Amino acid sequence: QQVYDEGLKKSRTGFAERFNRFLANFRTVDEDFFEDLEETLVGADVGFDMAIKISDELREEVKLANAKRKEDVRDVIIKKMVDLYEADGVNEDTQMHFAPNGSTTVILFVGVNGVGKTTTIGKLASKYQQAGKSVLLAAADTFRAGATKQLQEWGERANVPVVAGKEKADPASVVFEAVAKARDEHYDILFVDTAGRLQNNVNLMQELEKMKRIIQREIPDAPHEVLLVLDATTGQNALQQAKLFKDSSDVTGIVLTKMDGTAKGGIVFAIRNEMHLPVKWIGFGEKASDLREFKPDEFVYGLFK
Ligand code: GDP
Repeated sequence: QQVYDEGLKKSRTGFAERFNRFLANFRTVDEDFFEDLEETLVGADVGFDMAIKISDELREEVKLANAKRKEDVRDVIIKKMVDLYEADGVNEDTQMHFAPNGSTTVILFVGVNGVGKTTTIGKLASKYQQAGKSVLLAAADTFRAGATKQLQEWGERANVPVVAGKEKADPASVVFEAVAKARDEHYDILFVDTAGRLQNNVNLMQELEKMKRIIQREIPDAPHEVLLVLDATTGQNALQQAKLFKDSSDVTGIVLTKMDGTAKGGIVFAIRNEMHLPVKWIGFGEKASDLREFKPDEFVYGLFK
């Protein structure tokens, strides 16, 4: 809890500061109030649509209309944000999906270079290994120089084996070898690191489809998750990436990394509102322990503290 609190400090400070400034100006709930609120939310990367949505719904809120104290205003806004996040029930499920007992869970990680795919896999490998699961990693990012070595280092630290190919090997061959091994040797979980090449939608889609076909030949109900990794510090850019990936692959959830490096944690809302995808994990540092399951209420309340 404390590590998480520390990791999100920047995000929280940024958010809380904006709100405190906004609240400091509070006199009465009028048109200026809503305009200031919208501006504050957009400034925290909540996204324009979401800011308008929050503000529109708050206009209807009797409790807010009657609010006299800043604390009441603050509480109504927090509650509305949690409600709106949770109400977008397109995919409520923020928990990871696993294969039925006894078979291997396969989780594919996608996202552009540098967002933190390899690091996230390393963290999750360590987490599940410690929880008593047998974990295997596939270094199918054969494109980025150093990606394989980096994953192998995480594997060594977490005491988890890594299937890797030669430099510039066909990622599909690495995936094939890893899935066959995972199935034959009854691993609980296989995490697949993929290359973040993004020349265009068609290429990306073809590459991911090919990987999926290979995986499904060995394990028909896999992959159980396709997690898109996004760098929170890139703000609205991360949203653009999310759109591209969502259009070209069956993304099932989001990992939001580098939350320790941004003062704009509001991006969580923009992703929810515009992508209708659940954020499943939050990364807030470079260490194995700097990863946490995303819980909407805990997160929103944390932002305002
Ligand atoms: P990939 O290209 O998507 O596999 O990205 P990497 O896993 O190699 O990460 C790129 C850089 O971001 C590395 O220097 C990581 O240590 C760093 N990184 C990853 N996740 C986080 C995070 O949550 N917080 C911080 N501060 N750095 C991170």
